Amino acid sequence: MDFSKITEAEFTLLMQASEDFGRFGKTQRICSRCSNSFEFFQNGSSYQIKCKTDNCLDIVGRGI
Ligand SMILES: [Zn+2]
Repeated sequence: MDFSKITEAEFTLLMQASEDFGRFGKTQRICSRCSNSFEFFQNGSSYQIKCKTDNCLDIVGRGI
């Protein structure tokens, strides 16, 4: 994961959102930078959660 571009609070938000996707398949959380919603992609053993705005918040992780 690349943490260099996001703050700890933003990272926490992204992790909470990914938990929501893991549990409910969706999240009500919104991006703290631009108030857009998040998208979640699962790809084998890794996943990505990202803001729907290009070049805004996004992280890639492994497992949930
Ligand atoms: Zn955003």
